[in-house]
Amino acid sequence: MAKGWYERSELPQSLNSALANVQRTVAAAANAYGSAKVENANLVQGVSKTTTANKAIGSALTACIEVLEQSWLDRSRISGKQSQEDLDQSDLNTLMSFTALKHIRDVLEGTATEFDPATLPAPIVKPTAPSSEVAKVEQVPQQSSIQQPPSYKPDAIRDVPPKNGPSLPMSLPEYARYGRQMILPDFGLPGQLRLRASKVLVVGAGGLGCPAIQYLAAAGVGQISILDHDVVEPSNLARQILHSDATVGQPKANSAADAARRINPYITAIPLVEAISAHNARQHMRGQDLVLDCTDNPLTRYLISDAAVLEGVQVVSGAAQGYDGQLVVLHKRIKAEFAAPKARGDGEARGPCYRCLFPQAPRPDEVTNCEDGGVLGGVTGLVGTMQALEAVKILARIGEDTPPMLTLLSPLTGMPFRCVKIRPRRVASCRACGDPAQVAEPMIRDLESEDYVSFCGLTPTPAEKEGPRTQAAAMQPALIVDVRPEIEFGIAKLDGSINVPIQTLLRNPAQAWKRIHEAQPAAGVKEVLVVCKKGNDSRVAVRELLRVKAEGEAAPVDPLQEAKGARGEVRPVKISDLVGGLRAYSRERDPGFPVY
Ligand SMILES: [Zn+2]
Repeated sequence: MAKGWYERSELPQSLNSALANVQRTVAAAANAYGSAKVENANLVQGVSKTTTANKAIGSALTACIEVLEQSWLDRSRISGKQSQEDLDQSDLNTLMSFTALKHIRDVLEGTATEFDPATLPAPIVKPTAPSSEVAKVEQVPQQSSIQQPPSYKPDAIRDVPPKNGPSLPMSLPEYARYGRQMILPDFGLPGQLRLRASKVLVVGAGGLGCPAIQYLAAAGVGQISILDHDVVEPSNLARQILHSDATVGQPKANSAADAARRINPYITAIPLVEAISAHNARQHMRGQDLVLDCTDNPLTRYLISDAAVLEGVQVVSGAAQGYDGQLVVLHKRIKAEFAAPKARGDGEARGPCYRCLFPQAPRPDEVTNCEDGGVLGGVTGLVGTMQALEAVKILARIGEDTPPMLTLLSPLTGMPFRCVKIRPRRVASCRACGDPAQVAEPMIRDLESEDYVSFCGLTPTPAEKEGPRTQAAAMQPALIVDVRPEIEFGIAKLDGSINVPIQTLLRNPAQAWKRIHEAQPAAGVKEVLVVCKKGNDSRVAVRELLRVKAEGEAAPVDPLQEAKGARGEVRPVKISDLVGGLRAYSRERDPGFPVY
């Protein structure tokens, strides 16, 4: 903090010329103000002259601030203060008063859009002994990790007025805690107070949610609600950095909320242990200033976007898959000039929602999530952190106004970061955020009557189409066909199993069956057991193999009913898949089999 201020003392302008500047600008302000009063009878001229007068007063204020700053810095130097550690509470109050004065100046000069009473100078208070501040932090009551109802009370510390001065907008330790970001240009005390008053909903406390929550909490976002129904598993720990071995088995929402409070006891973290659904999405978003979508499947992305549009909330949406990531702000408040021509003049200008960007859901076979497709911790870390940064920009109102952009992260390429402008809102066709007068289809008004499952092509297969299934506990000797990707087969496999990756199998099921059929005699067993990681892909595989049978594509001799045994005789074949996959196998048959 001190460095920037001491550098100001290197300005060539002497105190004398600063004082002369005060004399000149105050005189000009007095003239302009007098002139504005005389002309007030004419409204247009009066407004114009008042603006001129305000700017003149602003200039006078600038001149006064410079004198005060220089005097203060001179005194600090004389008393030997060279680093931040040398500053006492009185110095800190002086710095904050300068910030407030500059904000008043900006309002007068028209460069700040609003006046925030919280920027009024704080009274000078006596320095507080550091030990008492530490003690105060330690007295913060620990929140229990149970799920909190919506009427959750904020941390006690935020209700207690600071002891040293009733008009201080924050407690003294908070001034010290947030000092580095508060002295940034355009951030200041107003930016910090906006963050402190903000309420944010983070959906998903996984790879993206953890880094996002971490930086939101540290920056002092006042209330962070964390919605997640999952529990912490060992396979989360390589990237979901708020969880630990000690919280394996606990709800992720609780684990993340506890971690957020450890990072910053001056914020409120609310764990919500439930899955987001059409039933609860709007309720959880109501009253929030911002939503962070940290989930990893298309269905929840559409649901979160639709609910946010209905509640008028912006969504900072992150995605990470494999080595790649992306970031976009949905339903973003934008300047009218960035809006689609057709959208101008129909109320507040907004960027596109998720449906505007993706009117059709991807087919399920085009989608993989982190669990099935893999993901690198650094990638989720970067995207989650970028989400937090974007959230802080929006909440503290810093940074440039830009048209809606998509940020793409591809760390393995020569251009790891790219930013592309995205299409404007589909005013004439989007069922969520379009103009009801122009959209032909019925608008989305009630989430519970929307069929998200069918829209995303996730309709469950009717039971009668399923192939036979085998429980891990009832496994018999069989030829084991492992349909996981080759790279996973290389991590751990069952003895004697063969690898036919699901993608290969789906591309040419008949060819896949031929390979299985040829391996059968060598295995010398009657049954074929298809396995995968969790028991989903293996069901699809068995279904496809049965379809091959029905179409008679596999071989002249029906391979699913008959196969040649090791001695050449024809034997019946049973084909089934392992319920729960290799995870169930590890749990129920062989705890020594690695789970990843
Ligand atoms: Zn839309």
